[in-house]
This record gives sequence, structure tokens and C-alpha cells, in this order.
Amino acid sequence: MAAREISVDVVIFGGGAAGLWLLDDLHRAGYCTLLLEKHALGSGQTVASQGIIHGGLKYALSGKFTRSADAVKSLPTRWRQCLEGRATPDLRLTRLRSMHCHLWSTESLRSMLGMFAASHALTVRPTSIYRDEWPEALKQIRGNVMKLNEQVISPQSFIAELASQHHDRLLKLTDRMSFRFSTTPAGVMAINLDDPDRSHALCINTDHVVFAAGEGNQYLRELAGLPAEAMQRRPVQMILARGPLPPLTGHCIDGRRTRVTITTDRDSQGRIVWQIGGQVSEDGVGMSREELVMHTIKELQSTIPGITLDGVEWTTYTVNKAEGKQKGGRRPVGEVVLHENNVFTVWPTKLVLAPAASQRVMHLLPDARTTPGQRQIVYDQLADWPRPDVASPPWETAEQWISVNSATRV
Ligand SMILES: Cc1cc2nc3c(=O)[nH]c(=O)nc-3n(C[C@H](O)[C@H](O)[C@H](O)COP(=O)(O)OP(=O)(O)OC[C@H]3O[C@@H](n4cnc5c(N)ncnc54)[C@H](O)[C@@H]3O)c2cc1C
Repeated sequence: MAAREISVDVVIFGGGAAGLWLLDDLHRAGYCTLLLEKHALGSGQTVASQGIIHGGLKYALSGKFTRSADAVKSLPTRWRQCLEGRATPDLRLTRLRSMHCHLWSTESLRSMLGMFAASHALTVRPTSIYRDEWPEALKQIRGNVMKLNEQVISPQSFIAELASQHHDRLLKLTDRMSFRFSTTPAGVMAINLDDPDRSHALCINTDHVVFAAGEGNQYLRELAGLPAEAMQRRPVQMILARGPLPPLTGHCIDGRRTRVTITTDRDSQGRIVWQIGGQVSEDGVGMSREELVMHTIKELQSTIPGITLDGVEWTTYTVNKAEGKQKGGRRPVGEVVLHENNVFTVWPTKLVLAPAASQRVMHLLPDARTTPGQRQIVYDQLADWPRPDVASPPWETAEQWISVNSATRV
């Protein structure tokens, strides 16, 4: 099959938070960049995430105050500016699920001490609020409730907004296509794409390649001849609850752990949905769906006294957090960026760290070689290429919702 050849500065694999943020930075800096997406944009971790723009709470609780953890603290400000249209990328159309999170403790001493640690160690400190300002769901708490300046976004709308700004640069890799890399000792020189549905193959010559495919980075690294054991996975089983629930966004702190982290959204039918993570989602690994739902109900009854769960439906979904490998499988405290020949591999570790990962790559790149005219020719040549969709939130795709009304009274 004859091949059409194009030349670009950078090819990114994967259109989650990391890939799309980097695409935006590179495009603004004048690089001719294409992003190849195998599934839907944001599938994997980003759209499945809770969307909290973390300001370091977890590091404060675990006592891991390193330089990287310090870096996290400045990033919520950057995100805030983007969400207000005062910095790039322009995220003014990204929907905010909540302007802030609440932190609360139960009556236990450990829980109270956790709150105390969080309120003293954080730079963006939680502030005490009067009881009449407490969210409805937490009115019967005997411990303490505080407000933390962490915004919560709808990750799907964030991905959709970036996708709409970069339509010309996003290419879908359909299931019928096959691709291989042309490699030399200097790295990946070209990506060769065969599509039985087209009259010609496509050869993309590139100066640099970025793997930003989350869990998919392992496969891409193997294909490029790079050591595959650079990645670790941390599975979590998240819980979804929908129905007559009060809006609630925040973390129940217990010593060094967040026992539950709850974020609220509405599904396409207008029902309230709670996405529940934190310790319960880690406990849930290896449990059956039913076991985890029962465990979560007990945790909610113990951390939110007086909560009514009648008429609520439940399900769970499992997703792997993909991270750069750490000694002993520990959690990385910051973004991980590997630079091998002309190939970068990025794992932001957290949504909030996507701008930091992008900056790390940008600093290591030489200036763009293409001219604005050449860039336009490339995008024009690909005008008829299929474009990827944006992934749906987990509650729109989840099946097997469970009703456990009798169990809610245990
Ligand atoms: C349940 C959960 C909750 C979370 N909550 C938060 C939170 O509240 N706040 C926070 O800051 N962080 C949170 N995180 C972490 C955060 O979501 C991730 O660190 C971040 O989204 C990772 O983005 P990414 O772009 O690297 O990967 P992903 O979002 O996984 O995106 C990878 C993309 O690459 C594509 N892809 C895969 N293979 C290929 C291939 N071969 N070729 C081309 N494309 C490919 C995928 O389809 C996908 O679109 C959470 C994570 C999880 C799992």
C-alpha cells in the first residue's frame, strides 16, 4: 500500500489529562503536534477520577512533605487561573462540581488528631466554619467540620473543552488500524499507520514522541523497545451511589487516612450520584461488588451519623492508577517523566500534576522545527481522518446497580 508521508515536531500517544494538557502547551509554543488516541479521550483514569484539584491534603496527612509535595501546593492556583480564563489552557467552559471540599472528623480521637494535623500542616489551610454552614448531610456530626479550598471539576467537561480546542490535532486509532514504530538507536523516528479502510498508509515522521497513555504506556514502551518495567499499577474499586442523596463533597479524615472521599454530580436523568473513594476504594480491591457495597454502607453510617440511604442504588467500578515505578511499590509523591533518546513517558500521578508533567517535557525539548505554514499543511492533509470521542462518566456506563434497602438499616 502506498504511504502518505508527513513530518511533525511531536507525536503524543494518549488523550487523558496529561496528553491534552501537553498538546495545548506545545501547540501554543509553536510545535506541530499530533495526538493519537486509541479509545475515547480521557478513558482510563481521567474521566473515572473524582476531579479534586488537590492542594496537598494527602501529603499533609502522611507527613510526606518533600519538594515534590511542595510543588503540588502551587498548582491549584494555576488551575484556578485556567478555570477563570486568566492562564492557559483556557478552561472557562470546564464545569465545576464544587468550589471547595469539606473535611470532617468523627468522634474518635484518631479522627480528631487527623483533622488537627491537616489543619496545621497544609499551606492552603482548612478553615473552621460555623455549625449552621455545615452541609446538610453532616449536620449530625459530633466531631468537627472544616472547609478546604480545593475545587472539584467535572473531568469529562475538562477533557471535552480541551478536545474542542484541538480538533485538527486529534487522531483516532481505530480497532481496524495497525501501527508500528520505525526505530533507530536515536529513538522513534516514525509511526507507520495502516488502515484497511483507506487507500494509502500514513507515515508520520517525528522529532519526538511522548507516551501519555496512562496504563497503555507499558505496551507502547515495549513496542518502542524501551524497558517496560518502568510502570506500576495501583488498583482501586470505586463505589457509585445514586438516588435520594444530599450533595456532599469532601473527606472524612481518620488519623493518616481519608476514610471516605465523596464527590457529587448528577447523571443524565438528573439523579444525584455520589462517587466514593478514599480508604474504602482501596479496601475494596479483591472484594466482590456486593461485599464492597455493604462495607461502604457501614462506613458511611459510621462516618456520617444520621445518613439515610433508603432508595439508593449502588454499583462499583475498578480502575488501575498507573504510575511511574517506585522502590517497594510506594506511591510517587509527584509526576514521573522519563526521557530516553527522543521519547518521553509521562505519568502525572494526579490530575492536578498534569501541568507540572507538561512543563517538564517542554523544558527538555529543543525549539520547534516546523513553520506555521508547514503545520497547516499537515492538519489539512489529515482533515478526513477519524477523530476520537470523549469518554462518558462511570455512572453512565456502569451496569448492575444494586438496591439494598434492608441492608441500609444494619
Ligand atoms: C478512581 C480515580 C480517582 C482519582 N481521583 C483524582 C482526583 O480527585 N484528583 C486528582 O488530582 N487525581 C485523581 N486521580 C488520578 C488522575 O486521574 C490521574 O493521575 C490522571 O487522570 C492520569 O492522566 P493520564 O492522562 O496520564 O492517563 P489517563 O487518564 O489514563 O489517559 C490515558 C489515555 O491514553 C489512551 N491510550 C491508552 N493506550 C493507548 C495507546 N496504545 N495509544 C493511544 N492512546 C492510548 C487512553 O484511552 C486514555 O485516553 C484519580 C485516579 C483514579 C483512577
